[in-house]
Amino acid sequence: MQVKANYTSSGESLALLLNQLQKVKQTGHDQYIAICPSHNDKNPSLAIRQTNEGKILIKCFAGCSAYEIVSTAGLSLNDLFPKESSHSQPIRNPFPATAVLRCIQTEALIVAVAALNIAKGISLTQQDLDRLVLAASRIGACYD
Ligand SMILES: [Zn+2]
Repeated sequence: MQVKANYTSSGESLALLLNQLQKVKQTGHDQYIAICPSHNDKNPSLAIRQTNEGKILIKCFAGCSAYEIVSTAGLSLNDLFPKESSHSQPIRNPFPATAVLRCIQTEALIVAVAALNIAKGISLTQQDLDRLVLAASRIGACYD
């Protein structure tokens, strides 16, 4: 009995994508990080993962969309998703918690410092408040 394999085409897509990226580093089984081509990235903030279904998931922790990243790399979103699996359910929390935590670590610290200041009766400046709103939106973006 023949089992239809989805893996060949997506394996090629993954290689194609990784070829377009800088400072690609393997972080686990079918998981990589690289410089995001879509913003001025100095430390690799783009996570790439291939699922068991052969889908390629990409996430920029600075907030670039998959579409922006893929088009900057000269590919299309169709290159990342083999047609056979296009109807399957989206995967929740596809990236390991450690990767997300690394992203929100700094932001959480900013929130904590602000909370301490409030507790001590120190009022926050408008600049502090703006930074807090930014921190909240970054933490929110990590949940996607
Ligand atoms: Zn980016």
